[in-house]
Amino acid sequence: APVLLWLRRDLRLSDHPALTAALESGRPVIPVYVLDGEDPGEAARPTMRSLGGAARWWLHGSLAALAAALAARGSRLILRRGPVVRALADLAAETGADTVVWTRHAGADESPLAEALGRAGLTARRFRGTLLFEPEEVRTKQGQPFRVFTPFWKHLQTLDPPPRPLPAPERLPAPETWPASDALDDWSLRPTRPDWAGGLREVWTPGEAAAHARLSAFLEEDAAGYADGRDRLAAEATSRLSPHLRFGEISPRALWHAVRDRPHDRGAAAFLREVGWREFCHHLLHQAPDMADRPLQAAFARFPWRDDPEGLAAWRAGRTGYPVVDAGMRQLWTTGWMHNRARMIVGSFLVKDLLVDWRAGERWFWDTLVDACPSNNPAGWQWVGGCGADAAPYFRVFNPVLQGERFDPAGDYVRAWVPELARLPDRWLHRPWEAESAVLRAAGVRLGETYPHPLVDHKAARDRALAALAEIKGAA
Ligand code: FAD
Repeated sequence: APVLLWLRRDLRLSDHPALTAALESGRPVIPVYVLDGEDPGEAARPTMRSLGGAARWWLHGSLAALAAALAARGSRLILRRGPVVRALADLAAETGADTVVWTRHAGADESPLAEALGRAGLTARRFRGTLLFEPEEVRTKQGQPFRVFTPFWKHLQTLDPPPRPLPAPERLPAPETWPASDALDDWSLRPTRPDWAGGLREVWTPGEAAAHARLSAFLEEDAAGYADGRDRLAAEATSRLSPHLRFGEISPRALWHAVRDRPHDRGAAAFLREVGWREFCHHLLHQAPDMADRPLQAAFARFPWRDDPEGLAAWRAGRTGYPVVDAGMRQLWTTGWMHNRARMIVGSFLVKDLLVDWRAGERWFWDTLVDACPSNNPAGWQWVGGCGADAAPYFRVFNPVLQGERFDPAGDYVRAWVPELARLPDRWLHRPWEAESAVLRAAGVRLGETYPHPLVDHKAARDRALAALAEIKGAA
């Protein structure tokens, strides 16, 4: 009987323990992807949510690349619509398969899913492959999960290193007859009218081969400068592996060993620490599967957020009047990705300057990021919102002007994404409202017409945010 290889957020063939196990069974392997309307990785989560638009675009490319890689190995990718249990049970009935293997993800308790598959007559076997270490393996001396990153990261260094990545198989044994498959194009994962994905196509190539090419290019060209360059908004000094990791096109073990093979590379070590943040966020989700909805610090459930639809709309559109905030939001809209420093700046602006609930920002990112991740995104927003496990304290409010001047000193980032300000001298670029009218005129800037006035006065907004914080602290 064939084995079903149920693929979710592990869209690769190398370093894939579930695939290896399927091959070791010596039986034919039927790779299947089930579109559930929900995040495919979250099929067993109590609060399921649909993949956002940008992630759906990525998924299309990633599935196409995987199908091609499988075809080159004598196999196929079968596409089916959910619900998952029914789709897999149907497939088993059609093919005589009695076993389904898959890669475990953090967050969801998957035992109900395994039980439901069991009731449908399938033996369910789960394998690691999303993380360097499984959440249960990483514990404090008191046997508790870590809530703070630095000790978590230190602890990881003391553990036995994860095993070396497994190579991709050369062939996958095929069943005698293939079951029917949906056509990928019929899933309409890519936008048509309007086609907003032009900027995504320009920047990204989904798929396992592209992920490995990006890692090699990063290690050869950028890793050395990563430690110093990773905070510079215009530098393109980071790996941009996040969507590849999000869809499992490359395993974190592959990263770990590629870096450890370069023991003298300080930049590569700094990069690995960020991969450690990914690990930390996934372990947090394991502790708190509702992290996208509920603040990890309970007091924040009472925070007096403002309802500000106009402010939220201006923020989404990159029209807040703060150039570095607007640059980040437009980079996100155009390319489906935003620099990490910019994510922190725009996040702080929404949550502290506009006093809008971090969940509204999390939802927007979820819809617009190609790397929109059920772990990293809520964890990032809870960090920004000051309500997370190991978060920036809420009272530390980013000043968007000073952040811009510090991390985009030559203004390249703002000029690239906010071209209507491009001709302003550096000195005024991050604070156009302070420039004299002659300076603005010479640069072709008319505030309130070509570029908005600042949505809020930062100093007043900061005081308002601190007053709101005092309210919940007082009540605590
Ligand atoms: P690199 O600097 O090259 O880092 C390598 C890898 O490490 C990344 O690809 C990513 O997998 C991981 N990583 C890096 N920084 C972090 C971090 N702070 N937290 C967790 N993992 C990290 N990352 C996502 O992958 N998906 C998200 O949806 C997401 N949402 C975020 C929301 C907010 C508000 C914030 C502040 C951060 C968010 N991040 C998210 C984390 C981080 O911004 C991105 O992972 C990073 O910018 C991706 O670019 P890169 O691949 O070039 O990163």
